[in-house]
This record gives sequence, structure tokens and C-alpha cells, in this order.
Amino acid sequence: MNIHEYQAKAVLKTFGVPVPHGVLANDVDAAVAACGELGGAVWVVKAQIHAGGRGKAGGVRICHSEAEVGEAARALLGHKLVTKQTGGGGKLVHKVYIEEGLNIAREFYLSLLVDRENECISFVVSPAGGMDIEGVAAETPEKIMTLAEQPTADVCRKMALFLGLEGAQVTDFTRLIESLHTAFQSKDASMIELNPLVLTAEEQLIALDAKFIVDDNALYRQAALLDLRDFSEEEPRETEAAEFGLNYIALDGNIGCMVNGAGLAMATMDMIQIKGAQAANFLDVGGGVTVDAVCEAFKLLFSDAHVKAVLVNIFGGIVRCDIIANGLLEAIKTHPMRVPVVMRLVGTNEKEGRKIVKDAGLDVRWADDLDQAASMAAQAAC
Ligand code: GDP
Ligand code: MN
Repeated sequence: MNIHEYQAKAVLKTFGVPVPHGVLANDVDAAVAACGELGGAVWVVKAQIHAGGRGKAGGVRICHSEAEVGEAARALLGHKLVTKQTGGGGKLVHKVYIEEGLNIAREFYLSLLVDRENECISFVVSPAGGMDIEGVAAETPEKIMTLAEQPTADVCRKMALFLGLEGAQVTDFTRLIESLHTAFQSKDASMIELNPLVLTAEEQLIALDAKFIVDDNALYRQAALLDLRDFSEEEPRETEAAEFGLNYIALDGNIGCMVNGAGLAMATMDMIQIKGAQAANFLDVGGGVTVDAVCEAFKLLFSDAHVKAVLVNIFGGIVRCDIIANGLLEAIKTHPMRVPVVMRLVGTNEKEGRKIVKDAGLDVRWADDLDQAASMAAQAAC
């Protein structure tokens, strides 16, 4: 689960991570009022969306008067911001965060992430901060250092020197790493990224930007973080699917897929691609699926305007084919089959499943195997 920058900074602050003073604003008046609250003469208005790349897209605006802050807030609030990370549709800005402007001397990149290969929390640092780190990795990989080590004083010093820090800055950096490491562990983060971490003209190390991702599997014991969840930032279909225990991820193609098992779902997507088409989603209905959940899954597919054909690929084991068939019958009561449905239904209760669909007189196109099913779906969708 992702949280907003302002929330990430509030969480990190409680662990002693230095962050700029800031005020959240839901409307223009509140944004202007924030200037007085913060004091100073320079403010930064930052669009709060679950995506980076805001700076280059006009989502981070440096202002030198209250009037400018008002204008910036007006330009952002209620408008969609399209960044490199939002996709073409962009994201609607509901809130802006107003921060005191800082005198930035240098910008660094710093992140902590779960490193499965090395079974530890790894640190990634770069003196080329504030930019898109993938670009730095591609063009100047020597500017990135990754350390799969415990953050001992020596390790912190190594990172600090790589960043070109010196003297008291090294001590500050070590303290910062300790705070971040503690926050990472106690909040069950899977990633914390400060891009940039800045050194100000006054030689303060400050987290100017913060991204914080919490491990979904730990949310049950992170109630305070769960409260920070912003459903308006999430794909509504994914949220809906999750409520029914379905593993659903929206994609860009036009063939809606319903499959049991993550491996089979991926094989199905590959096969669709081989046939020259694209899946509209990944959907694993899982093992102990009920008629209600299958019904919900079909509704998700039928109500998706991008979907031009549906491919059902069920290899019945624990999932029974009659459950899938009954789920379909339930769904079409409210969501008519407005696109061709190709079914490959084999395994447990295969005969019963087919009979249920046929007896209902549904115009379903039957396939004997996945290869044929993918071809039929690709043809139907084009
Ligand atoms: P992102 O583009 O979504 O990652 O947003 P960031 O929070 O990283 O901001 C983008 C850039 O805006 C930073 O790299 C800075 O260069 C600049 N910026 C943000 N806050 C300030 C500030 O207080 N003062 C100055 N001078 N620049 C800022
Ligand atoms: Mn950033």
C-alpha cells in the first residue's frame, strides 16, 4: 500500500527524520492561509497524488508570494496531473501540501528496500538525486551504490563519503539512516525512498520528498497506517476485487481474463500475447472461490468498457467448473454478456459446468484447449 508524501513525512518525522515544515490544504484559501502559518518568504506547493515525477509535470511549484501560492493551488486542485508515472489519464489532485521553501545546496537519492535475494534491507544511495533514478541507473550506473548490509557506523560512513558528505554531515547522515532503518522495520515498510534528500545551504540534511510503501501482508498489524489509505488513489476495480478475495490487476489490453491460479493466469496472458492481442487484466479467482466471488469477477469484466472479449480459462481442481458456470449465470442477471465469451472449462465437474451454461442458452464459444481459446478470444476482440 502506498501513502501520500505528506503522510510519509509525518510518519518519518515521528522517528526523528528531518522533514520540511508543511501544511496540508484541501482548497485555495487553506493554501494561502498556510503561508502565514509557515512564515518565511518562499513556499512550495506540491500536488499530493500517489505518483512521482510531479516536478517535471508542474506538480511542484515554487512560489514567492501568497498570491502565487493561491494561483498554484488553484491550478492544481481539482485538475488532473499527468506525470511519467501516472499513465496517460493522469491523477486528480484532491490535496496540496504547502511547504517552507528551502535553500538547496545539493540533492541526493536515498532508498531502503526489502532485498529478497540478500534477505535483508538494502540501501541505495546516489549523489545524483532529484532525478529519475532509473535514468541514472541506465546512463551513469557508477553514480549509484547499493549496500546489502546492516547499517553499522562503518556502512553509514561509506554511504556518506560516496555522497561527498563530510565532518558533522556524516554524523547527521548516520543518525538519519538509523531513524529510517527503525521506521522501516517497525512500520513494516517494503520501500522508503527519499528523492531527493537534500543538503541545505545551512548544511541541514532534510527529506525533501518521501515515498513510503507498506507491505500489504503486514497491514493487519499496522492499523495506524491502514488509516492513511486513500481509496481515491487506487484502481476501483482492484479495490472491489480485493473485497471478494480475488487477485485482480488492471492492464491496458482488451481481453478480459478469468483464470484460476496465478501461474495459469500468467500463462494465459502470455498466450494472448502470442496471438497478437493484450489482456485487459490479470485475474486469479483463487482456489476456494464461491459463486458470489465468481459472479463479482464476471461483473468486473463485463462492466469494463475496455473489454472487447472475455476469456475464461479454468483448469478445475479445487475450483469446480459448476461454480464458475453458476457465477456467470448470477452475473448476467444484472450485467448482460455484452461481449463474446470464450470458455475453456476443464477438470472437476466439467460436464456439470458446461451443462449449466448450455441449459441457460448462453451464447458462449467453447474451446478445447488454451491455444484455441486464446486464438478465439484474440479474434473476437479485434
Ligand atoms: P517529484 O518530482 O514528484 O519527485 O517531486 P519532488 O518532491 O522530488 O520535487 C521535485 C523537485 O522540486 C525537487 O527535486 C527539487 O529540485 C524541487 N523542490 C522541491 N521543494 C523545493 C524547495 O523547497 N526549494 C527548492 N529550491 N526546490 C524544491
Ligand atoms: Mn521526488
